[in-house]
Amino acid sequence: MLCIALAGTAAELLYVRFASASPGSTPLPEPPYPLQTAPPYTIALDAGHGGMDTGAQSLIDEVIVCDKTVAALYTLLSTDPNFTPILTRTPEEDPPIKDRAETATLAQASLLISVHANQDGSRQSHGFECFPTPPGRLYSAESLHFAQCIVNNMASAGHRLRGETGIRFAYYNGKSKKIVDSTDTKVRSQKSFGIVEKVGCPAVLVEQCFITNYSDVENWASDEGCTRAARIYYEAICTYFGTTPLPKT
Ligand SMILES: [Zn+2]
Repeated sequence: MLCIALAGTAAELLYVRFASASPGSTPLPEPPYPLQTAPPYTIALDAGHGGMDTGAQSLIDEVIVCDKTVAALYTLLSTDPNFTPILTRTPEEDPPIKDRAETATLAQASLLISVHANQDGSRQSHGFECFPTPPGRLYSAESLHFAQCIVNNMASAGHRLRGETGIRFAYYNGKSKKIVDSTDTKVRSQKSFGIVEKVGCPAVLVEQCFITNYSDVENWASDEGCTRAARIYYEAICTYFGTTPLPKT
């Protein structure tokens, strides 16, 4: 189902549902999908978890990080006349990844960002990772460029970039996941994260921080941290499209 959030505060998002544009009932256009060449650019915001799916649970639930960050980013983009943000899901819904990708494609989004938070068994791992559409796919170059815009801003804000550059590619082999740094540009047939594989526009999946690490949670998963991250994504989107960010309020 296509959900377009109308203007409002982050906590008061209203959704208009267009049954005729529901994923599965509306034929998808054939790739390559045209990307917008002038503003307002449609930006798809994908909270990585929602509804009954809380994502990882540790010092904070991953879904809270996803919701707060996406809501703050939605507010920033909806204030800027250069952008039209759309949501791939409401916070209450848990549509499959395929439907969320189709929602963005049907809305003719020019860019998608999927927000997640990371975890591991220790309290030690920390930092930021950005996973663009891997090499060999449609829009992989554009996705990599957007990822670079994000990690540049994250580094400037003092967030630790994991791996060589903070940009990595993920590949699934069955249930096991292989992660390589972005310097490994070998084209692989194994699938990456579903949202970046299936959507018809440049896309990245971000792991904003580790919800198992106290410092990461304080700096990047708290209310202030999610707001700070949203501002970083917003300014990266502006850089990607060559627009000037609105000043901080
Ligand atoms: Zn997740």
